[in-house]
Amino acid sequence: MDSDGLYIHIPFCHGKCIYCDFYSQPRRTGMDDVVVGIISELHTRRAEADYRFGTIYIGGGTPSFLPDTLLQQLIEALPVSGISEFTIEVNPEDVTADRARLWRSLGVNRVSMGVQTFDAGILRRIGRRHTPERALQAVLELRSAGFDNISCDLIYGLPGQTQDIWRHDLETLLATGIEHLSAYCLTYYEGTMLHRMAAAGRIAPQTDDEIADKYDLLLDLTARAGMEHYEISNFSRPGRRSVHNSNYWSTDGRWLGLGPAAYSFDGRVRRYNPADTDTWLKGLPDASVAEDETPLDLVNDHIVTALRTACGLDLSALPPDMILGLLADAAPALASGLLVRTGSHIAIPHHHWLIADAIIRPLIRI
Ligand code: SF4
Repeated sequence: MDSDGLYIHIPFCHGKCIYCDFYSQPRRTGMDDVVVGIISELHTRRAEADYRFGTIYIGGGTPSFLPDTLLQQLIEALPVSGISEFTIEVNPEDVTADRARLWRSLGVNRVSMGVQTFDAGILRRIGRRHTPERALQAVLELRSAGFDNISCDLIYGLPGQTQDIWRHDLETLLATGIEHLSAYCLTYYEGTMLHRMAAAGRIAPQTDDEIADKYDLLLDLTARAGMEHYEISNFSRPGRRSVHNSNYWSTDGRWLGLGPAAYSFDGRVRRYNPADTDTWLKGLPDASVAEDETPLDLVNDHIVTALRTACGLDLSALPPDMILGLLADAAPALASGLLVRTGSHIAIPHHHWLIADAIIRPLIRI
């Protein structure tokens, strides 16, 4: 990548969605301390590598839950000069015409909004606070404020989400003309309310066939809408891929992550911030811990992430002594079409991405 990413994690939310395993707390107290802490962490840690930031991504948690004055204080302390893509994650209930204009005036040029579904009953049951109408209105308000790069998240496989509901979700969202879609298959993460409900038999996960049908419909409707499927969960109109997230998946991506639970990679070492606000605050200006990863771990991380993208894995970027062994292990998948080789790249055709884990497993180097 030509430039590095700056990620900022805001660890606050209105409430906790039942499926969420991101580090966030449903509270308003302590927001000032976190913003001041992130700014001090930026000043200290930007020197740990010769970072040249080209993208900023404020995620979480729910950055739009921050009061306007605090968000403004944070953004005004960021190195915004030379930034080509500046994304903020928002929830529909926080978007107003005035706030959208404020975000735009502060230099934010991309918004990522959690929509998840347009079924009012499912939204309530999974702990979301917005209505379907609010999500649509929020897209209009963002457009009116001048945002021409809007990404929305949907989830498929939600409890009670039939194929008809999923079709309605996709058709409704794609009709808004958004530039980017992130569509995630529901995961039952341990420690979440969703996981506990499934363990107690209060909800039943959808079957593999139901999920496969939803994935097929996702590929069909996004293709008809002119979107390219460039990563396992990500679709964009031409030229509107997420530059910041693509950096995470590239062979030479580097990024600095600030705030509780953020992680960084300077090209050699991955560093994690504690996923606990108090521990992180006590450790400032640098609470990060270097991950004990071997060069082989880093290669395997790259194999896993690269094979979830349309570009696939560039064999020439691997250590030369690994290539023949990897190709031997990939031979059955190459023969059956689960992997395709084009020049120095091998890639999983996107209609097989739902089983990417099984295809990638034999390729992990030991
Ligand atoms: S709003 Fe987002 S980060 Fe917060 S609990 Fe819900 S899914 Fe998690």
